[in-house]
Amino acid sequence: MEEVIKLQDIKKSFDQITVLKDINLTVNKREVVVIMGPSGSGKSTLLRCMTFLEEPNGGIVKVGTKEVKSGLPLNKKRKTTIRELRQNTGFVFQQFNLFPHKTALENVMEGPIVIKKMERDKAKEKAIALLTKVGLVDRMDHYPAKLSGGQQQRVAIARALSMEPMVMLYDEPTSALDPELVREVLQVMKDLAKEGMTMIVVTHEMSFARDVADRIIFMDEGVIVEEGSSKQIFNNPREERTQRFLQDVN
Ligand code: ADP
Ligand code: MG
Repeated sequence: MEEVIKLQDIKKSFDQITVLKDINLTVNKREVVVIMGPSGSGKSTLLRCMTFLEEPNGGIVKVGTKEVKSGLPLNKKRKTTIRELRQNTGFVFQQFNLFPHKTALENVMEGPIVIKKMERDKAKEKAIALLTKVGLVDRMDHYPAKLSGGQQQRVAIARALSMEPMVMLYDEPTSALDPELVREVLQVMKDLAKEGMTMIVVTHEMSFARDVADRIIFMDEGVIVEEGSSKQIFNNPREERTQRFLQDVN
């Protein structure tokens, strides 16, 4: 199996507080991994460490062929490797983070033009195809403020896809949405999973986890408490902390 992400002994502290304790995780190509766990357990920090949006205090991150060891000086070569590693990933945040002064289409064209130096016409053609895929081609000239939260998040997904990442990382992509808008976003994610996109998804959406995840990781207090197939985690959780969490959310 082809490894897309490999984390080795990732540690992270903020001041005196240890947030991640020696996390080891490998995600293979086409795999959908859902990360669950109580608030404050370190899920967002883990995603951010995978992309060096947060620098780990220890450990090694590998995405595709790009490998970065934490704790080394930030020289030019290392900066380049971190940038390349990050370009292997597409990040979708809870708060959409679209450029407010750009239309949906311009949001999706931006990365390929600026970072990949793609020709404008080609970037536009590609962006239109991606907006079609997320069901928003008829809204492509709208500014984010004129779109619903669900539509904004679908644009954000199209924008992340425009860079052709090896893996998509989602940090609670539906938590900021009104309940009636959650489904359209989950459906787009589900379709991508079906197409074989490798994804890591932090979410509390249990039905999504149950239906889509190949593997579920349960985190608490900075450690992976338990991991398994969705069947095993939902029907037969081994650890008491997992059992308690699943009871509380249901
Ligand atoms: P989760 O996403 O599981 O809710 P987080 O990764 O956001 O958890 O946070 C884990 C812990 O790290 C929390 O105690 C949080 O307060 C702390 N934390 C996260 N980011 C920072 C930061 N930038 N500075 C200080 N503490 C932080
Ligand atoms: Mg979080």
